[in-house]
Amino acid sequence: MTILIVALGGNALIRFGEEGTTEEQFRNLRVPISQLAELSKDFSLIITHGNGPQVGMLLMQQEATSEVSKRPLQVLVAETQGQIGYMIESTLDEELMRIGLDEERLFITVLTYVKVDPQDPAFHNPTKPIGPAYDEPKPGYVQTAKGWRRVVPSPKPKKIYQWREIKRLMELGGWIVIACGGGGIPVIKEGKRLSGVEAVIDKDLASSKLGEQVGADILLIATDVEKVALHYGKPNQRFLERVSISEAKKYLNEGHFPPGSMGPKVEAVINFLEKGGKRAIITSIEKIKDALEEKAGTHFYVK
Ligand code: ADP
Ligand code: MG
Repeated sequence: MTILIVALGGNALIRFGEEGTTEEQFRNLRVPISQLAELSKDFSLIITHGNGPQVGMLLMQQEATSEVSKRPLQVLVAETQGQIGYMIESTLDEELMRIGLDEERLFITVLTYVKVDPQDPAFHNPTKPIGPAYDEPKPGYVQTAKGWRRVVPSPKPKKIYQWREIKRLMELGGWIVIACGGGGIPVIKEGKRLSGVEAVIDKDLASSKLGEQVGADILLIATDVEKVALHYGKPNQRFLERVSISEAKKYLNEGHFPPGSMGPKVEAVINFLEKGGKRAIITSIEKIKDALEEKAGTHFYVK
């Protein structure tokens, strides 16, 4: 069966202006997960997701007291794989029951760690925004499109360690795998030892790497815009429907896709298609199913 990776963006869990309560996150997840339950009839599914707001919240929670010892960032990333994996799984369970597929589909959240290069320049140049956005600056915060936010290093994913487990599950058929949460737990290899490092990997780049390693057919990145645009937000903005790899590279070089938002998505798509992926789509959380039927989204193709 065709292997489809769906990377869920931040708005799958927390919508603009929300506080990010557990109730809100469960409610929001219903939108993508109901479509994914349906899609599991036609595709072998891998679901990946971000964790920017959630990992930032965990950091703030532990900073709120000195009575318990603090966990390093990579352990907090692992915690978000657990909390978000749980919310996705239980929503998926309900949605599969609703359409009578709960007996046939099996699903699992795979704790995923991802190799990064200790020499990655990102360690000296933090760019990944996490946690809530503020109207006013705070020490260590930078201005982002959403407001002032804390930023942490975001090294490039080099290898997904659990790719074999995930591939094996895909081969068995009937499995839905939730993996690479928050871009994966960043680790570096020191001799025969894997050590976690304090960073948050981009989930779109990690999804693309996972797609390459398991030989996925389609990568769909679900975010809060239905299509990718040239001159985004300007009067001459133009939405794109079909884009070749070479066009995507040209537009990326021309600066149409900023780092930290659309940039890594387009980069992820290019990598995926260059490493054997067949189709890649960027669309909104609401249009996942329509986009797969080519009724929505920006579609990227090889050549
Ligand atoms: P996610 O949480 O899904 O990863 P991001 O905020 O990182 O979402 O990226 C999606 C955002 O990228 C959109 O909300 C949009 O504001 C922004 N964006 C930047 N450039 C473009 C572009 N050229 N076309 C479409 N959206 C763009
Ligand atoms: Mg993002």
